[in-house]
Amino acid sequence: MANAVENQTQDIRSMTNQELVHKICDVTKEERRITIEVLRLLREIERRQLFAELGHSSLFAYCTNVLRYSEAAACRRIEAMRAMRETPEIEVKLESGELGLSAVTQARTTIRHHEKFAKAKVTPEKRKDAMLSLCGQSKREADKALALEFSTPLPTTPVVQRETARGTTRVTIEFTEDEMEVFNEIKRLSGHPQNLKDTILRLAAEELTQLKKSRGEMPVRTRHSVSSKENLPSPAEEKNEANRRTSAMTKSPRSIPISIKRSAWDKAGGRCEFRNADGERCDTKHALEYDHISPVAMGGHSNKENLRLLCRQHNLLAATQTLGPKLMSSFVPAIR
Ligand SMILES: [Zn+2]
Repeated sequence: MANAVENQTQDIRSMTNQELVHKICDVTKEERRITIEVLRLLREIERRQLFAELGHSSLFAYCTNVLRYSEAAACRRIEAMRAMRETPEIEVKLESGELGLSAVTQARTTIRHHEKFAKAKVTPEKRKDAMLSLCGQSKREADKALALEFSTPLPTTPVVQRETARGTTRVTIEFTEDEMEVFNEIKRLSGHPQNLKDTILRLAAEELTQLKKSRGEMPVRTRHSVSSKENLPSPAEEKNEANRRTSAMTKSPRSIPISIKRSAWDKAGGRCEFRNADGERCDTKHALEYDHISPVAMGGHSNKENLRLLCRQHNLLAATQTLGPKLMSSFVPAIR
């Protein structure tokens, strides 16, 4: 092995300048061809939902965990693959190198934000024009052209959430100066230095308490470790909760009473319950949904035994397996 590497280094060292320049042009051309092939394969893997069947909660998780791409490299490839699906005309431009993966990723992200802001879809024709107009442009030129074509107010940066290897979640949020000022004011008025994360967590805890009260659920603490009598739900509150439960049950067979949701959640440990053919569990904590194991349309009930927690991708896979890809593809472009 060491010999083979040495020989290759020797071969390269003995090349003339002209040979060296020709060689690197050939190899980078091959590199682009292979990249396009990777994109085509990824597209088919997404269409078949194969990553979900193998137990991954997203195509991104599959690309980083199995294919060993960095997060950024995985993002660029997935974005470019989806852009190619939406606008087939860009394929030859990617292969010739006139269009780069980063430019396509940037264009797709910008268009997505624009659609969200304008609450309207960008037409396929306009999408195609925007993509093709980036051919041969530098990153700076491309960014500028996109900003002019699809203007959106700040902040345009999405909140990035990633599960880390340690089992924690890393969240990247970008604040404008005005937004940051709110936190600075809290810091100033409270009179002592505050950690931004602590502030956000405290506000989130307040919101959670409000939500639990408004939905008839008391804060979790009062159920398990009751420390004072005032924390116990009053008989009136208990009755409200009971009424709400009955009305939820009679409303629709699909609606799930909160108490049932809570026990299904506990049963799943707050994680996706999907297992692949080898019995490995998905376990993701993101984008979880309640799934009726036996569908309501086929007489399934909203009880603890018939409910499981699945992430969005695995819920989609379960629906595809029950209803068939033909029906599902009319809702989900990726599996067309
Ligand atoms: Zn899952």
